[in-house]
Amino acid sequence: MADIAFIGTGIMGGPMARHLAAAGHSLTVYNRTRAKAEAWVAAHGGAVADSPAAAATGKDAVIACVGNDDDLAQVTLGTDGAFAAMRDDAVFIDHTTVSADIARRLALARTLVVDAPVSGGQAGAENGKLSIMCGGTAAAMAAAEPLMAAYALRIVHVGGPGAGQQTKMVNQIAIAGVLQGLSEALRFAQASDLDLDKVFEAISGGAAQSWQMVNRWQTMSEDKFDFGFAVDWMRKDLGLALDEARKNGASLPVAAMVDQYYADVQKMGGNRQDTSSLVRRMPK
Ligand code: NAP
Repeated sequence: MADIAFIGTGIMGGPMARHLAAAGHSLTVYNRTRAKAEAWVAAHGGAVADSPAAAATGKDAVIACVGNDDDLAQVTLGTDGAFAAMRDDAVFIDHTTVSADIARRLALARTLVVDAPVSGGQAGAENGKLSIMCGGTAAAMAAAEPLMAAYALRIVHVGGPGAGQQTKMVNQIAIAGVLQGLSEALRFAQASDLDLDKVFEAISGGAAQSWQMVNRWQTMSEDKFDFGFAVDWMRKDLGLALDEARKNGASLPVAAMVDQYYADVQKMGGNRQDTSSLVRRMPK
């Protein structure tokens, strides 16, 4: 069993840390809003730290799941950041969705670093069934994998530092187009006065099937969006993908368009709504 510092006990990090504690690991947690870390400890045991450095001191592993590049830089390399305090042989695992650039920067700063963004959403974190896409060395993966197994359905070592984040971009690019297609399909079905449950029954086992269709068709048809993966996060992620595409030369016309459509949803007040709220900008 390992001594682990967990930084960022939010929607995703909170349940991940809970699975580690349930597996018997010893947890010290740090969160920007201290009350959230205190609530986590009250529910699951362990200790609260006053800074990332205090949490990381002497630990076997440090795991982060914060918001964006700036947050990650702050908790690792910033004042009272974890990196200066970590043991040389400790592994750092990052579950934040960030740029491949910062993932590579962190991998240059320490020996054992894995960029490990996740897919599966809040439900995947709660159920311990996340898909984790990883970048890093074989040695870093060997240290990280047994810990991540506490909350993973699937762990894939894709390549070197940054490859996990690039794979997450692939994931988000694929989802953006699917959600716009699903939005158009739903509005078409409504315009045709079709029974939406029957339409779902007819097509959800065929070639049009997708995770989004299976999990979001019904809620989209009921205008329910107050759950799931937030539009603000999706815009961050599409921004990362579009930045990366400028470097690798890939063409992303649909992702760029859907990113702008999400800007419309933000203007409608949908910042924290699920990404399926893309359909809201299309008149019924
Ligand atoms: P969240 O609920 O906002 O959690 C982020 C946590 O990190 C918050 O508790 C926040 O503290 C803390 N934090 C942020 N910056 C910090 C800093 N500088 N120092 C210390 N703590 C800091 O967000 P989330 O939904 O868990 O998402 C976290 C990451 O996972 C994001 O990169 C997101 O894109 C990615 N992700 C999310 C999902 C999803 O379905 N939610 C799915 C896949 C990937 P405060 O309490 O002070 O805000």
